[in-house]
Amino acid sequence: MTINKFKGTRMLEVIHSPEDMFKLSRGIRKGGNSIGFVPTMGYLHQGHISLIDRARKENDIVVVSIFVNPLQFGKNEDLDRYPRDFERDYSLCKDAKVDYIFYPSYSDMYPEDFNTYVEVKELSEILCGAFRPGHFRGVTTVVLKLFNIVSPDRAYFGKKDYQQLQIIKRMVKDLNIPVEIVACPTVREPDGLAMSSRNRYLSPEERLSATYISKALFKIKDAFDRGASEVWRLKEVGLDVLNKAPLIGEIQYLEVVHPENLKSREYAQKGDVVAVAVFIGNTRLIDNIEL
Ligand code: AMP
Repeated sequence: MTINKFKGTRMLEVIHSPEDMFKLSRGIRKGGNSIGFVPTMGYLHQGHISLIDRARKENDIVVVSIFVNPLQFGKNEDLDRYPRDFERDYSLCKDAKVDYIFYPSYSDMYPEDFNTYVEVKELSEILCGAFRPGHFRGVTTVVLKLFNIVSPDRAYFGKKDYQQLQIIKRMVKDLNIPVEIVACPTVREPDGLAMSSRNRYLSPEERLSATYISKALFKIKDAFDRGASEVWRLKEVGLDVLNKAPLIGEIQYLEVVHPENLKSREYAQKGDVVAVAVFIGNTRLIDNIEL
């Protein structure tokens, strides 16, 4: 099947089966058109839309996948209550001029005899990986499957999930996967909170507390810009802010790390990343900022 699709004559189609998606994407590429791919777990917000907009600008065809991937959730995590609203996602995709939504079922992606996993060592074991064992193995496994099914020229990922982005870049490099990974800036609410599907879990009081996360990161960046580079000092600046948040729970980590290997620093350098994971009530939120 060869598909010659012209920009401007778009209709949004939903594809369920991996086989159909596979045939379709091969046809699109045979027809000389490029594919930009945005993998998501749905419940779309402006962060996702910014990835879609970028993909729209840089490719002939845009494919968005919506799949809440059970493989990347731990036993006591929020798989069952993860927000889902396909109709809303469909209409957001339509407005954003997406061409295809790939919307597979669990059994389509993981038949009963499924038994192959992809793991990026080391990078997957630190920061979030230390608190969510198996999480990144679930992410890399599903992303590689999606890449094989969609065969995109370019795939778009948010810096919001900074560690995930670096792990996927590493997987693509290590396994010679023929796709360009495009990193997109974090989209924030007007008060600084990084947009996330999980923000919907927050009560109004928790939502207010959550603003302290980005406040802490901005304050650290400010201190760095004014000349502070000892990481213990920068952490203190951040923790001071976080500890003022009324409903703050466990602070899992607040680290200054190398932008690619994600190793912790003693002295921060320009381009390093400050990454944080905290609980606000029962909701685990992550954020980061580049120095
Ligand atoms: P998710 O649906 O949470 O798995 O996210 C799908 C993609 O959207 C990932 O590449 C995320 O990094 C990206 N993303 C999520 N939130 C944001 C945000 N606030 N700004 C930019 N990208 C985001």
